[in-house]
Formats: sequence, structure tokens, C-alpha cells
Amino acid sequence: MDGKDVGSAVSDYWTFSSDNLVSGILPLITAVLAALLLVSLIRYRRLGGRGQGLSVEMGSASRSLRNADRDLRTLFDQSAIAVMLLDPTTKSVLYANETAMMAFGVRTEEQLTAEVMQKPDAWSPSPFSLLDFEETVFKTSRSGLQKFEWYFEPTGRHPVWLDSSLSIISYKSGQALMFTGVNITERKHAEKADHFRHKAMTSMANDNGLHVTLDHLAAMAESRMPGAYCGVMVHDGERARLRWVGGRSLPEPFREAMDDLPVAFGAASSGTAVFIRGRVVSRDVRTDDRWERHRDDAEWAGLRACWSEPVIGSSGELLGTFDVYHKEPWTPGDDDIDALTDPIAITSLAIERHLSKSQLEHMVLSEQMVRRISTDLLTLGPEETDQGITSTCRALGDFYRADRVFLCQFEDASQQVWVSHEWAGEGFGSLCPDIARKYPVIPSSLNKVFEGKPSVIFSAEQEIPPQLEFLKELLTLKGQQSVLLVRVHRGDRMSGILGIQMTSAVNPWTPQRAQTAELMANLFGSALNRNQLLHSLTYQAVHDQLTGLYNRHKIESFMDQEVARCTRYGSTFSVIIFDLDNFKSINDRYGHNEGDAVLSGVSVLVGQGIRESEIAGRWGGEEFLIILPETSLDSAVPVADRLRGSIESHRFSIPEPVTISVGVAAFRPGDTPHEIIQRADAALYSAKESGRNCVKQSF
Ligand code: GH3
Ligand code: MG
Ligand code: MG
Repeated sequence: MDGKDVGSAVSDYWTFSSDNLVSGILPLITAVLAALLLVSLIRYRRLGGRGQGLSVEMGSASRSLRNADRDLRTLFDQSAIAVMLLDPTTKSVLYANETAMMAFGVRTEEQLTAEVMQKPDAWSPSPFSLLDFEETVFKTSRSGLQKFEWYFEPTGRHPVWLDSSLSIISYKSGQALMFTGVNITERKHAEKADHFRHKAMTSMANDNGLHVTLDHLAAMAESRMPGAYCGVMVHDGERARLRWVGGRSLPEPFREAMDDLPVAFGAASSGTAVFIRGRVVSRDVRTDDRWERHRDDAEWAGLRACWSEPVIGSSGELLGTFDVYHKEPWTPGDDDIDALTDPIAITSLAIERHLSKSQLEHMVLSEQMVRRISTDLLTLGPEETDQGITSTCRALGDFYRADRVFLCQFEDASQQVWVSHEWAGEGFGSLCPDIARKYPVIPSSLNKVFEGKPSVIFSAEQEIPPQLEFLKELLTLKGQQSVLLVRVHRGDRMSGILGIQMTSAVNPWTPQRAQTAELMANLFGSALNRNQLLHSLTYQAVHDQLTGLYNRHKIESFMDQEVARCTRYGSTFSVIIFDLDNFKSINDRYGHNEGDAVLSGVSVLVGQGIRESEIAGRWGGEEFLIILPETSLDSAVPVADRLRGSIESHRFSIPEPVTISVGVAAFRPGDTPHEIIQRADAALYSAKESGRNCVKQSF
């Protein structure tokens, strides 16, 4: 019922029942009547008993009285204060002005009597029940004027707060209860909204959890918009979904049904609002297409309208939606939009604060991870590096919740690339099961792919460029999969690629995450570099630089091991020592460099001529030594002779054949390493003596 209806109802009422109320609304009326009578009497006396005149005056006084009474009614009827006169015993309404009837949601005084004053159901629960009201009436009759704030929920209307007073006045020959009430509903709502705003701010400052803050903000908005039910959804950008985080006045099953709403056109009002980055008003969800999938949920919760307002962050990012539901078809007016401005602004602040806090946590976590991994990686021994890198790939996979993490390394000399380390999450197979498989690549051509950046991202829609042919072959990105490729460096040269593959509805590679991955790629680069350095140092420590064979120092330690082994197990081994014939003259005639080339060539032939279990080394200038484990003298001599033959027949860079003289000796129980070598040396000497290019054994 609107104000106009109430107004016309009230004037109708006056036309047929004005007598009921004539005389005795207020003592004021009595006073006015007395005054008028007094004036009439004085005039009567002045007129000196002119009876007719008096009766005329009396008539006009009575008319004036009726006029004054009507004026007063008019005055009260137009008053913004609710005024009501009640019979103290029956509680029936003797008079109520328009404002009073509006406040109680009725059209007539009879209705007010029957449907409110005498009907306990119409009142709110304690402390605003009819019983509580009667208590106040009792107090008024005992102690006079009572002042109090009263809350009333008229059927089918928004609740009202009245700043009320109740007093006893003289009425006709008896007494009446006079009730006055000033509508303070708006002030009460503002107070309540302030209360929730305060709670929201406090919970934000105390880091009570985003849901607590957003619950208060939803309650704040509800206090400002009577009849509204609010919810706050937070945008999960990574998954392109909305989570119901704040607002608890709607039933839980409905909130659950709306939770995890996709960002899409047609995903109710909220999903659509984020999708179109704008306000969505569904005046009636029963007929709104965007509610098709959630119509039953809304129906179940008794909801008819939804207004969804996107919550935008300070840099324009979509943080979520503020949703206002109504139980009747409804569209927001300017007042509603005003009322929601504040809650939305604070919501944006709260979500941003929450995000920056979790970003900070992510940063701390990633820093911790990087620190732990870097210590792990850089303290690994050369034998542990591979395993260390593989477990780091796993740690990275866990950290990013990735599908797979892999490391490819380039081999500069052969211009090849291979997947050296990888980790794959559950349900994802190995990227390259054949670890030895190598693919062609031109590392320098990759600059074009990276364009000077430390990393690049490819998704299912963006094709991997031809420079990364091998990845194109190994990696098929589907649907929401994407891969971040990060350069791995050795010094200032690109030596590999770290790849992290993820499945996510939106680009998961925030600058922060990419930066962490770049840091990890640097660590991998350092670990590999360090590993290579360590390898080359250990290599240099035991190998001869010119020939690549073991050096004398290492050969001596192998000799010690063999002697110890044969002494313990009673087995045997043989030693071949050979010396290049007339090498001095090769040097003299072709130069030292050619001499070096001959030495290298000989070492290659040695490598080809022995088995894996046999050990070859450079014993001195142009002298070589071979250890043949588990080999008797008889078996060693043919090996030595084959080697001699292969060198003799080999075409070196010099225009003449190179020959060697060879001495062979076998371990005898009780031998020291020195004793066997001495015997082999003696055999070699005898070979030289016998005219060179031959094999001699020591018996
Ligand atoms: P023989 O048949 O009696 O062994 O004659 P030879 O000329 O080989 O005599 P000897 O073993 O005394 O001479 C070894 C020469 O090998 C001396 C040295 O200049 C040369 N030589 C030793 N180490 C190297 C090396 O690393 N590079 C080169 N180019 N020459 C070396
Ligand atoms: Mg020699
Ligand atoms: Mg020599």
C-alpha cells in the first residue's frame, strides 16, 4: 500500500465517521471549547441578555469548535509523527493518523485494532511483542509518560523503528492512551550499517580472514537495503571461477550451489557480471536466460531477483562480485546503487589486502624454496648432481602444482639437445622416455624465440616455433595447458631450457611466478656449470692432457689395486709396456707438433685395441702402459702383438710408419707393483735390443 492509498483511505474514513472523533481528541480541544464559550458569555453579557444573539453566538462557537477540531485532525493527519489514541483497556484504536497507519501497515483504524492491537501474532518477538507493549502501557498508567524505541514488522512491508512515547490523557469523560512515534528506521539502519562497517574494518585490520570481513560487509549492505540478501563472491583468476566467500543470510545449500561459479556468460548474474566486466541486473530470475542453469536453486531459496555488481581492484583487475538478492522481482534504484557504493569499495580493499598478503606469503615461500634448493643444488658432489636436479624438478612441480618440469641441455659441439632431467605429475607420462635420444638444435637460433627475454610462454593456441622443433615433437599442449620455457645459461651462453607445463584456465604465469622459475633456471645453470667444472677438475687430475689416457699417477693407483686384488683372491693380471721406436728422430724431422699428433693417434689406437675392463695410460714421454685384469701372460702377448701390428699398419700424418717395441709381464704372487713393471720394462728393453717393432715377454 503506498502513501496515496493510505491518504485516500483516511479521508474516506473521515467522511462517514467523523462524529466518533468529534470532541475529545485532546485536552487542547477542550481548552479551545472553553475559550470560545467564555468569549461567547462575555459577548452575551455585553449584549445585555439579548437571547437570540446569544444563541447565534453559541451556534458559531460550536461551529468554530468543530472547525478547530477538524483543523487539528488535519494537522495530525499531515504530521510526520505517528499519533494514535487507544482505549486503555480494550486497546481498540480511537484515532490514528495517516503516518501511524502507514507505520503499522494498515489502511483503517478498525484494521489497526483488529490486525495489530489485538493480534499478538502481528508483533515481533520479545522485546517487541504485544506483551512487551502491554507492559509499557502498564508502566504508563502507573508512572506516567514513557519514552522508548519500538520495532515493528508490518506484514508484507519493511520493518520500522519508531522513537515512541506513551502517555495518559483525558479523553471524553474518561482517559485514553496517546501513542506518538517518530520513524527512525533510516537512522537505525545507518547505525546498524555503521556497526557492520566497523566490524569489517576491525576484522580487516586484525587479519581475521577474508570471509569474516566479507560477511560483515554483506551484513552492512543488507542493513542499508531492507529486504536484500547479500553475497560476496571472490574471483579466482587462475581457474576463472567465483567463490562464495562472504554473506551468510541466504541458506547454505543455495550458497553451495552458487559456489565455484564459472566466469561465463550465462553463469547466473555473478558469472556473467565478471565475464562482461559490468553490472548485471536479473529483475526476475524465472525469466532471465542467464539464470537458466541455476533457476531451480533460486526457486528453492525463494529468490526472484539478483543484482550483481563487479568488484574492481585499484589497477582495474576483477576481484569479484557483490550480489544483492530479493525475494520479489526487483531492480535497483539510485538509492540502492548509492547504498552499495561503500560496501563495494571496502570489499575491493579487503580482497586486495588479502591478495597482497597471500602474494607476500607466496614470495616468502618461493624465497624459502629457492634458498633451500640453491643450497641443496650447490653443495651436491659431482656424482649427486643429476639426482639433485631431478629432485629439484619434483620440488618445482609441487610448488607450482605443475603437470611436468623438465630440463633440456644443449651440446654445443654436435648442435644437439636432449632432455637431461624431468619430473611428471600423476597422469602425465614421461616427456622423453629415451633419455639418450638427442635432437638437432641450433642454440644461437633460439635468441629469436626468446627475443632477449629470460622466458617465454606457449599455450595450446600458440604454436611452438620451428626453432624448437624438438619440443614440438615431444610436447603436445591441449586445452588449458601452457608451458613456460626459461633460458638456462652457462656463463653468457645459453646452455639449455627449463620447462614447466601447467594446466590452468587462465595464464598461470604471473610475473612473480615466472621470476621464481627464472631464478631456478639460473640455479640449474650454476649447478650444471659447477658440475662440469668439478668433472673437468677430477678428469684433469687423473688423465693425461695430450692423449686423454690415464696419467702415470692414476696408473700407479690402478696397479696398487690390481696387486691387492690378485694377492687377496689368488688371481692374476698382466701388464703391457710399449715405447715408440726412434721417436726422437720423428720429432727432429717433422717437428714437435707432428710428434704430439703421433702420440695422440697412438692413444686412439690403444683405446680401440683394448676391452672395457682393460686400463690404458701414458707412462712417460712416449711410453704407454696397459693393465689387463684377469689375464695371463699367454693371453696378454697376442693382445700386445695385435696392438703393435695395428700401429705399424696405421697411416699417421707423417709419411712413414710408426712402430713400437713392447714388453709384457704377468703378476706373480708376492709381487709388488714395482716388481712387475720392472719385469715388463726389462722385456721392453729386450724388444729394443732385438731390433724394435716386436713384443717380448718376461718369464
Ligand atoms: P728408441 O727407439 O730407443 O726409444 O728411440 P727414441 O728416439 O724413441 O729414444 P728415446 O726414447 O730416448 O727418446 C724419446 C724422445 O721422445 C725424447 C723426447 O724428445 C720425445 N718426447 C718425449 N715426450 C714427448 C712429447 O710429449 N711430445 C713429443 N713430440 N716428443 C716427446
Ligand atoms: Mg722411444
Ligand atoms: Mg722412451
